[in-house]
Amino acid sequence: MIPFSKPSVGPAEQAAVAAALGNDVLHGDGAVSRRVQAKLREWLGVEHALLTTSCTHAIEVAMLALGLGPGDEVILPSFTFVSTANPVVLRGATPVFADVDLGTMNLDPEDVARRVTPRTRAIIPVHYGGVACDMDALQAIADQHDLVIVEDAAQGVDATYKGRPLGTIGDIGCYSFHDTKNLMCGEGGAYLTNSDELARKAELVREKGTNRAAFLRGDVDKYTWVSLGSSYIQSDVLAALLEAQLDRRDEIKRQRMAVWDAYRAAFAPLVEAGRVSLQTIPEGAAHNAHLFYFRTETPELRGAAIDALRAAGLQAVFHYVPLHSSPFGRENGCDYDLPATTLGAETLVRLPLFPDLAPQAGEVAARAVEAVDCVVRSVSAI
Ligand SMILES: *Cc1c(COP(=O)(O)O)cnc(C)c1O
Repeated sequence: MIPFSKPSVGPAEQAAVAAALGNDVLHGDGAVSRRVQAKLREWLGVEHALLTTSCTHAIEVAMLALGLGPGDEVILPSFTFVSTANPVVLRGATPVFADVDLGTMNLDPEDVARRVTPRTRAIIPVHYGGVACDMDALQAIADQHDLVIVEDAAQGVDATYKGRPLGTIGDIGCYSFHDTKNLMCGEGGAYLTNSDELARKAELVREKGTNRAAFLRGDVDKYTWVSLGSSYIQSDVLAALLEAQLDRRDEIKRQRMAVWDAYRAAFAPLVEAGRVSLQTIPEGAAHNAHLFYFRTETPELRGAAIDALRAAGLQAVFHYVPLHSSPFGRENGCDYDLPATTLGAETLVRLPLFPDLAPQAGEVAARAVEAVDCVVRSVSAI
């Protein structure tokens, strides 16, 4: 069975971790973390990059840095991982779910605009599959209503919007280095911002609410508890693993692209025949081959396609159960319908995609299409 995902680990990663274990500092913000943060700043052209324990935690840091609390509303997609919403609820603020564009499964700016109220403080766009949201349209809404944009760019590492790296366009950007993401260190993340103030606040939040970072820089002569905070700093050992991945990013992207392109080419006839649809890549969005999915016409066909793919030895999966229709989402006050979200989530199938699949990409893509073709043909014929 070809797994859905598999981290790309080779001699470079093994050597990096072994070397890091020889250092005297294994906790966070040591020499390795500082070097990785500098590499991120330089690569992305962003003023501040702080490594965190996960993307979930980077979003939590963002909500704390923004001082969100009860009464504040945050607009985000329902079609996303729970980590986009939990940090909002943890602050006692209210998540307001907006619908997506069925072509990209990214936030639909018109629906976002409809959900703005006097209590809205922020928008959290999610770049699904590393395909950029319509950031110009979202920024226009944010400007009009004085809202902050926090990009959930967990899937957007090494992808751009009009030439700008995802995660560096809004006020704050959050990356994931989970082992299913494009660059990984097992568990990890980053908090990105061009704002000195939002960087300073994050620095406190991330260091248990203390000004230890300023102390280490020599800006203050003792360190103490100055704000609400928690422990969000990533270990230097994981930073070393991440550094090896950062240095290999071109190779990793090339391999992922080879698989993505092979799927895209193999599915073209099925798309032309109107039997499945694929993700739209809008003008200006340079994606990173984070994931490949197709959508069937109906939920029933989706189930049959997943069974056929698994019978053909491919671990196909679906996601997400839309947050607005989940038990916890409903408990948190969402009782309206989001039609594109519901339809998209019920008809989407994701295929195995990871760097080491590149040498087999053509064969695997052909096998996938054969399995799906059988299903969509037989059912359409009834
Ligand atoms: C993976 C993912 C996250 C969570 O990332 P972690 O680093 O595992 O916390 C958040 N949002 C989206 C859209 C994701 O895909």
